[in-house]
Parts: sequence; structure tokens; C-alpha cells
Amino acid sequence: MSDQFMITLQAALQQLAIQHTVETLGDRATYLGVSEIGACPRKTILSKINPPQADLVTLLRFRRGHMAEEIVAAAFTAAGFTNFERQVEVHYAGDVPVTAHIDFVFTSKVRKTMAVLEVKSPETIPTEPYGSWETQLYLQMGLLAAANPDYTVEKGAILAVNFGSSGMALFNGYTPQATIFAGLLERACTIWNDYQHVMTDSSAIPAMEVSPLCGYCPFVADCPKFEAEEVRELTESVEILTELQKQQKNLETDIDIRKRDLLAIVSARGPIKAHGRLLQKATRTRKTLDTDRLVDFLKEYGQSLTDFQETSAYSFLEIKKAA
Ligand code: SF4
Repeated sequence: MSDQFMITLQAALQQLAIQHTVETLGDRATYLGVSEIGACPRKTILSKINPPQADLVTLLRFRRGHMAEEIVAAAFTAAGFTNFERQVEVHYAGDVPVTAHIDFVFTSKVRKTMAVLEVKSPETIPTEPYGSWETQLYLQMGLLAAANPDYTVEKGAILAVNFGSSGMALFNGYTPQATIFAGLLERACTIWNDYQHVMTDSSAIPAMEVSPLCGYCPFVADCPKFEAEEVRELTESVEILTELQKQQKNLETDIDIRKRDLLAIVSARGPIKAHGRLLQKATRTRKTLDTDRLVDFLKEYGQSLTDFQETSAYSFLEIKKAA
């Protein structure tokens, strides 16, 4: 496929994303969405002032999210459920403009109850739901309850749909929590006030919350948090990584010793069975390049190995002891 074809495709996806945002979420500069309240305040505020252009991976991720919702809705319909609404918009009636767009709201008019379902489509399904998912759900349940005083919001759940090999996972058992909801509204109020402040004074710096996900933030390049001599907020993350690397090294040494010992036994005695496994000595062949002969051969034609070597750059994380 030509580069032009790919550029056209990406531009169309970008157009679709903008269209979808306008149709479903409206002008995000005029309110705080529930998913923005749990995020880093600086990221949320700058995203409102200068909405970043999504790259191809992000655009595909958006589409994946919509597809997951469509699949779940089709399954509910096929299962005979008729008591749900999709993309339910709920506005907070207080001072700060907070709006929730809830993926699924189930309502029982007879029992006067409601339930919330949030659909996620992560690349891998975590063993525990992410804190940001839970924050979103608590806000959705709280806002829905506030907007429907005649109903009781009984429960909420998060359904993670994976298009790879993990399938689906349901994280449920959530109920509205008044204290958490009040705390999140307070946080929303602070973010909204900081947003108004930055709008009138562009030199104002909103609160920043460094996390291991900062690398994916569109505003990391000039984030003041990373101008500090040491980014203390990442201490735990680097500590865990260095500890894991140490364990990996020890594990590899341990594995090598055990393999060598067992190979010595099967080499001497032939195949054995242990722990329900069959162990035997295997021999495979592999092709290796005789560089000495190749160098001699090339020399005859006035060339050397370096004539055929190319240099290409690659990136990796280097960790050294800091001075
Ligand atoms: S880089 Fe991290 S701390 Fe800075 S704005 Fe982005 S999310 Fe916030």
C-alpha cells in the first residue's frame, strides 16, 4: 500500500473520531467528563485548551472501544434485554459542570432501580480493575443517583472486552459510595477552577500527578515535573523494575543450573520421567556462518564484510547508578 493510501486512511479515522466526539460528547471544553476527573489535572486542562491530535494507534483504540460497546449491546439485545439505554448523558446540577456519558444504564421501572455498566476494551485484561475505571464508575453511579432522585442506583460493574485471546472479564459488586463521590466532586471543582485560571493566565501551572503512564501524555515534552533534578514520584516504579531485573537474573542462573544438572543425568542414563514430564537429551542442528571463509571469499572480489553491514538505531531503557 502506498504512503498516500495510509495517510488518507488515518485522516479519515481522525475525521470519524472528531465527528463521533462532537455527536456523542459535544464540546469538551465546556465541561469536565468523568474520565477526566481521575486523570492528571495538567493533562486534563491542557487537553481542553489544546486538544492533541490522536496518532494512528490512539485512533484505532477509539474505534476498538466503540466496537466493544456495539458487540455488548448486540449481545444484550440477542439475550432479550430491553430494559437498557446506551450512552446516557447525565449532568451534575451543582456549581461545577460535570457530565457523564454512561455506556449502559439498566432500569427497572417496577422496582424503581437502576444499574450502570461501563465497557472497556483494554489490550490486556488486568487481574484487578484499574483505579481510573473505578473512579469513573463511582462518579457515574453518584451522578445518576443525583439526577434520578425517584430511583435507587443499586449497583455498577465494569465489563472488559478484549479482542485478543483474553475474551471478557466482569468486575462487579460496586455500589454508590457517598464519601468517594463527594471527594471526587471536590477534586472536579479544583480542576475546573484551575482550568478557568489557566484560561486567563497562561503562565499558571495546574497541579501535576506523575505516574508511570506519563510517557503517553501528549504534554510530557514540556511538563515541569520532569525538569526536577530527580522525579521522586517514579521512585517506586524504578525500584520495582530494578528488583524484578535482579530476580530475573537470579532466576536465569537458577534455571541454567537445574537444566545442566538434569541434562547430565539424562545424558548418562537416557530418558527419565519426573513430575509428570519426560526428560531426554535432544540434539538439533543449526546453521552458522563461517565468517573467516566468507571474509576470504569477499577479499578475492575486492570487498569486505563491512561493505555489507548497515547501521540502524534502536532504543532501549538504560539504567545506571545516578551521580
Ligand atoms: S507528563 Fe505526567 S505529570 Fe506531566 S502533565 Fe502529563 S500526565 Fe501530568
